Amino acid sequence: MTERLYYHDPFLYEFEGEVTEVVPAAEINGRHGVFLDRTAFYPTSGGQVHDTGWMTAKDGSESARLRVSEVVEAEDGRVVHYVEADKPPERGTLIRGMIDPERRRDHMQQHSGQHVLSAAFVRLFNIPTVSFHMGDDYCSIDLDTANLTTDQVREAEALANLIVQENRTVEIKFATQEEAQNMGLRKPPRADKEQLRLIDIHEFDLSACGGTHVRETGQIGCILLRKTEKVRQGWRVEFVCGPRAVNTARKDFTTLTDAAALFSAHIWDVPEQVRKSLEEIRTTRKSAEHLLEEIAELQAVRLLADTTPREGRKFVVQVFADRDPVFIRLLAQKLTKLEPNVVALLGSKVEQTSLVFAQSRGMPFDMGAALKQVLAKLGGRGGGSKDLAQGGTPSAEGLESVMSEAALTLSA
Ligand SMILES: [Zn+2]
Repeated sequence: MTERLYYHDPFLYEFEGEVTEVVPAAEINGRHGVFLDRTAFYPTSGGQVHDTGWMTAKDGSESARLRVSEVVEAEDGRVVHYVEADKPPERGTLIRGMIDPERRRDHMQQHSGQHVLSAAFVRLFNIPTVSFHMGDDYCSIDLDTANLTTDQVREAEALANLIVQENRTVEIKFATQEEAQNMGLRKPPRADKEQLRLIDIHEFDLSACGGTHVRETGQIGCILLRKTEKVRQGWRVEFVCGPRAVNTARKDFTTLTDAAALFSAHIWDVPEQVRKSLEEIRTTRKSAEHLLEEIAELQAVRLLADTTPREGRKFVVQVFADRDPVFIRLLAQKLTKLEPNVVALLGSKVEQTSLVFAQSRGMPFDMGAALKQVLAKLGGRGGGSKDLAQGGTPSAEGLESVMSEAALTLSA
């Protein structure tokens, strides 16, 4: 087994150890797996992600620092350090390990913050935590509860931060299962371990945990709760601690400031401004739709007046360079509704080339079939019913002449 130095001192950032085994990179995805007799590196487990850092040979024979990019638990319980290097240290080499202190500090803050927060939810509302996730940007806990209100979130955040401000001691203790049960654990420990490692936040929380934690709650800095969402087994609460909380708040403020500048408003007025703008957009869109309908109707009236009937039927064939597909569809509907004897073959060259073929109800043609014939000549896709068909072609070349031909075929 690897002796885990962080069990007793999570603030130990440098240590010495001996290489006990090396698994060559060729056997495991390009990185050497290095086993040590003792380590201060934390392997990914219990929701907390691994440390990173460096390794150098202690006697200085290899001056290069080897990057430790990932640390995991092997199936036999030993700790594997994945090292990025051309040549890994040999078995028996004495090495000096250095943990990235910033990353470790951040993980201690997030993980300790989680203990405080989970305990706060239990103390206030008797809501237990079922899982903990630590991400690169934020962390989350899943709470075993059917409901979670905004007020509850605020209260838990306030209590958690009070515990941070009180700067309570956080002690590492070791106990047997039996001893631990009598000490009042927040969460029952895994049954397969005889010796338990307990994290004791003075008179607030006692949990079995193998992770790295701060010495006093003040070192967490602060705890900021963010998004909550319903998940399968309860509610997920996202949170950030320490500098992560400050960075997140800074990012939020910058985002809000940018939004407020667009409205020339105070950041607190952004939601009201957005609501107003959306309302204006809705009103404007509605009036634009009305106007478009009116224009389509007027244009339909004029087109029908200008069209000479052939054997009692009016064929309106036109390609628009300045009207979009929505408009020509509207126009086709107006044309075929205003009079009972109309065939409208319309095209639009705005954005992509699109076609709308329509006939007044009761007319004998098949618009779907007529469109298919045109598309067969020009390429493109589309289809529809007997009275209305729509489609598009890859280019507008030859569109007018093919449509005129189609009208001639129908009227013949
Ligand atoms: Zn923990």
